[in-house]
Amino acid sequence: MSGLIACVALDLPLAQWFDFSLPDARPDDLGRLVVVPFGKNAGKKMVGVIVAITDKTAVPAEKLRAVETVRRDLPALGAEVMALIRFCEGYYHAPFGQIALGVIPPLLRNAGRMINAPRVKPARPVSKKTLLTMRHIAITPAGREAMLNLPGRSVAQRAMLHSVLQGALAESALRQRHARAGVTLKTLLEKSWVRVEIEQVPVVSHHPHIISEGPPLNAGQQLAVDAIAAQLGQVAAFLLEGITGSGKTEVYLRAIADVLRQGRQALVLVPEINLTPAFLQHVRNRFPAHHIAPAHSGMAAGARLRAWREAQDGIADIVVGTRLAIFTPMPRLALIVVDEEHDQSFKQQEGVRYSARDVAVFRARESHCPVVLGSATPSIETLDNVARGRFTRLALTQRAVENATLPEVNFIHLDSEKAPDGLTDTLLRAIKTTITRGEQAMVFINRRGFAPTLVCGSCAWMPNCKRCSARLVFHRAAGKLKCHHCGGETRVPATCKECGAADLHPAGQGSERIEAALMQAMPAARIARVDRDATRRRGSAEKIFAAAASGDIDILVGTQMLAKGHDFPKLTLVAVVNADSAVFSADFRAAERMAQQLTQVAGRSGRAGLSGRVLIQTRFPEHPVYQAVASHDYTRFVQVALGERKLMHLPPYSYLALLRAEARDVGKLDQFFAEAQTAAIDAMTHHKIGDIKIWEPVPATLARKAGYTRKQLMVQSDRRITLQSFLAVWLGVIRANSGRDVKWSIDVDPMEV
Ligand code: ADP
Ligand code: ZN
Ligand code: ZN
Repeated sequence: MSGLIACVALDLPLAQWFDFSLPDARPDDLGRLVVVPFGKNAGKKMVGVIVAITDKTAVPAEKLRAVETVRRDLPALGAEVMALIRFCEGYYHAPFGQIALGVIPPLLRNAGRMINAPRVKPARPVSKKTLLTMRHIAITPAGREAMLNLPGRSVAQRAMLHSVLQGALAESALRQRHARAGVTLKTLLEKSWVRVEIEQVPVVSHHPHIISEGPPLNAGQQLAVDAIAAQLGQVAAFLLEGITGSGKTEVYLRAIADVLRQGRQALVLVPEINLTPAFLQHVRNRFPAHHIAPAHSGMAAGARLRAWREAQDGIADIVVGTRLAIFTPMPRLALIVVDEEHDQSFKQQEGVRYSARDVAVFRARESHCPVVLGSATPSIETLDNVARGRFTRLALTQRAVENATLPEVNFIHLDSEKAPDGLTDTLLRAIKTTITRGEQAMVFINRRGFAPTLVCGSCAWMPNCKRCSARLVFHRAAGKLKCHHCGGETRVPATCKECGAADLHPAGQGSERIEAALMQAMPAARIARVDRDATRRRGSAEKIFAAAASGDIDILVGTQMLAKGHDFPKLTLVAVVNADSAVFSADFRAAERMAQQLTQVAGRSGRAGLSGRVLIQTRFPEHPVYQAVASHDYTRFVQVALGERKLMHLPPYSYLALLRAEARDVGKLDQFFAEAQTAAIDAMTHHKIGDIKIWEPVPATLARKAGYTRKQLMVQSDRRITLQSFLAVWLGVIRANSGRDVKWSIDVDPMEV
């Protein structure tokens, strides 16, 4: 009997793979999606990914089940995507199957259903095709055998064999990953433990001459473009630090043009779905003859799979998308751009908690290409990478449009002026003057809904969510109290639940209330609100931004959705209301985040030669965050913040991981953490891993959510590698011992602590 075995990774919280017989397995089945029987009596069907093909299994023959279907009609995850997922598996300590099935298009994930995958036709005839040779290193059966018998001192050989154990890897990647890789590789080749596989990747070239012209570059832009161009085809990481309106986009477009002229592919990540249309428009205008594919979770399933295939087949020249786009297969990838790299949206906050920005840096190394991280307000981590010489800083210090200068920032002190509906008279007057001149105003508030909550005028009772430790938010238009954490909602009560008085008032402000107040004060003004409630329908945010750009809106009101990237030429006044609470949050990153957000919103003002203004309503104008915004000195703010982080031993001066867990039963939750603490100490002593600090478990910021109690435990180390080795051992034990009653996850480099 031909005894070929497929090792399959499934979407389960388990690190192990599962063996199934697959007699007609072919080498190119690696990375393919399969449907396998699973569970009691093989009653369930699951979709998985083939991660290895072998001829041995520890599963006894009578228990070995067969793969039900190999989806050879669907694209396999190529070597490149497999390597990326493997990196995430190692770094974020998440199971391969969970990562893989979480990042591929839904139609691939649902491969178990007998869907007809949409056929993809090339968008236009391909004018010229050449082949690019890539060398991959694959393990041989002798190599597998040898791994079991290698003497302990052959560390380098074992490590390299391990790298290719789960599938062939590009030689360039292997050389990046291992010190003195050349010597080791030579030895392994001589012993026939590995072999070289040559892959021919098509290089498709369209009409490289059809690239529209952009504006002449200024000196700073030219230097940046040249620096990037000089590194094409090589490993390089750049920080493009350019003040708002300095023309970073133009730098990206020129770098992309260089890549397209070489017949290669470029990948652009933007922080939000809402920002993809604007960027797509830029690239379509500049590269009308090239094929451009979007990639984000807001796309229809068919379109998403089509884009994936076009990228994988090399038909798409440019992919523009949100964080999940980092996993798009692109065989001729030659440049990655991460715009607004500081943005938190690049960190996946549930499931496998990866940072698309950090994965981008890894991928660029694997693909031997430059990565450009752009921002007006770079993250402290990235600035630290510059300081350590890992990233090269390129600076744009002037606004690109002639006569455009940074806006003047003033404060409205809330101690000396009342703000009945969240807006002071001074602010209202300034907005009126602005729109009377035919210019536009933007009001930024970092809370949606009408008011953070209701309060009883007689007894001060406030409604709480029964399932979460959080206040219910008052949504007036919907006539509801909503929980922003579990999604629960109730009708607004007519009277106080505590004392019965019919005396309930909105307390505090949300975007809806500010909008209402503006409408009342300026009934003739054209006002549009942008927040998650107002833009729920696909494309509605896009419509509002388009209307604002063409001057059909006088006042934009909204949450952080307004802060990012948009360019409205007539916008001259930006107002910030109610940011104080966020500035004083317990999270050590809160100040950094607020400094970034406010610098970004402030930067929306006065971009096109009209002079801009920013008004901040606050009780604490002297706070460093506000001072940084006022003096346009983000760099100084970072200096101060770095000093504090160093003193407190926080990132980037140490590395963190957060074990989060939740359970209905508090006793079981506490037991879980007690066991985790014991396991941590065991891991440190048995494996001689020192220099790890284990914190006490504490309640999560939201201590109860949807009926679950939530706690978290932080582990910290001065060295990334120490933390990584510790996590590998520790999580292995936790995974082996954990039951069904406690849901847990690990967050490496957490953004919210
Ligand atoms: P950033 O992304 O750095 O905030 P943008 O890329 O949006 O800035 O550029 C701001 C404005 O400057 C845009 O309207 C853009 O068209 C314009 N611009 C960029 N580069 C130049 C240039 N070299 N000459 C003239 N205008 C430019
Ligand atoms: Zn009351
Ligand atoms: Zn709730």
